[in-house]
Order: sequence, then C-alpha cells, then structure tokens
Amino acid sequence: MIIAIDGPSGTGKSTIAKKVASKLNYLYFDTGAMYRSFAYLLSKKHISFEDDDKIKEALSDFDFDIQKDQSGYVFLLDSEDVSATIRQEKISKLASEIAKKPYVRKWLLPVQKSFARKGNIVCEGRDMGSVVFPEAEVKIFLTATPEIRAERRLKQLIEKFPEKASAYSFEKVLEEINARDHQDTTRKVAPLKKVDDAYLLDTSNLTIDEIVDEVISYKKTKEES
Ligand code: C5P
Repeated sequence: MIIAIDGPSGTGKSTIAKKVASKLNYLYFDTGAMYRSFAYLLSKKHISFEDDDKIKEALSDFDFDIQKDQSGYVFLLDSEDVSATIRQEKISKLASEIAKKPYVRKWLLPVQKSFARKGNIVCEGRDMGSVVFPEAEVKIFLTATPEIRAERRLKQLIEKFPEKASAYSFEKVLEEINARDHQDTTRKVAPLKKVDDAYLLDTSNLTIDEIVDEVISYKKTKEES
C-alpha cells in the first residue's frame, strides 16, 4: 500500500509520516529531502541554477538514499550523511528553486517511483498524490495556518541549529514560509495542491499523536470501504 502525504512546510508532514510508517511498519520516503539533497549537491559543486547543462550532468551523477538506524532516518548523498546539512534555511530556498525545473522533476520521478516498489510505504512531499503516486490508496493533504507553521519551523530550526538561534526570528521564518508556499503553489509543473481524492486534515489545533491517529484511522476506513 502507498500512503501519500502532501502539504506545505511546517504542517508536521515529516514527523507524522515517520510516525505513521513506524506504527504500521511501512517504509518511509521523504521526497523533500531528495530535492534538498540535489540542491545541496549543486551548491557544493558551485553549479549555477541557470546552467542547465551542468545541472543535467549533476542529475546523472545524483546518488541519494535513505537508511534507517537506531536514531532515526539518515539521508545519504553519495554515502555522505547530509541529514542535518539539508535542513538549513539556505537549502530550503534552493530546493524550492530547483524543484521548479521541469527536467529536474522529470528525472527524479522514476527514482521516486522505484522507492515504492520496495514495499508498503509512507511517502511525503508536494506532489505525491497528484503526480508521483496518483494510484495511492490513501492520500492525505495536511494544512495549518502560516503563523502556526512558522512557529513550528522556528522551534525546529532552533533545536537543529542551536548555535544559530539568534539569527532566526518568527517574522523572518514566516516570510520565508510564505515565499516558499507561493513558489510551490504557483509553479507550472506539479504545483502543491490538494487533489480531489485526498483527505484534507487541518493540523493547526491537533497534536502530532492526534494527527497520526487520524491518518491511521482514515487508512483503516479506506481499507474497509
Ligand atoms: O518538504 P520540504 O520542505 O523538505 O521540501 C523542500 C522543497 O522541495 C519544497 O519547498 C518544494 O519546493 C520541493 N519539493 C517538491 N516536491 C516534492 C517535495 C519537495 O517540489 N515532492
């Protein structure tokens, strides 16, 4: 079974998808981490986002994987653990920029599909239910107000990068969330959107455990129907 979870940044997507996967003993796939890792690779190689030839070359060498260890999930780029690096705000912006390019999305599509052939899976991103896995049996679209999402994201950033805590502010994070939402929902290819057969779940006033329970009970309802 494929459980496809989409939604904008700060809705709790990753935390929820990981918990649902662990409770159901499913695989977990964070497609945002894939776009982030590719953006990080380009920035590491000093490849300009205007240089389509070099980007295409980098795509053919792009080697991304997700592994599970005792502490959670590890994201690997050419065997380098990039789990923390790719969460920086700078990379969030670059990922959203690179995700606009149709040929990048086209290249990554079969790679994403191949992850789902490994077994039952919970995958999360922006276009899981609409483009990558339109056949998914369970589709969830998470939302929350931009302010609540910015608060969550700020907390996450401070936890992940405590040394940079003084550089973050609620206003700045909110501004970045709004800019990324705009970019992700208005791009021409695979924009972030709720498809008709997705279950809309507003997470603004729910705890993570309540959301996880809701997703699992929705999955059961779908199985029984
Ligand atoms: O989910 P996350 O915030 O890690 O994603 C980073 C960026 O990658 C998003 O802002 C979006 O532009 C892009 N993305 C995408 N399609 C996906 C997952 C992520 O375009 N399926």
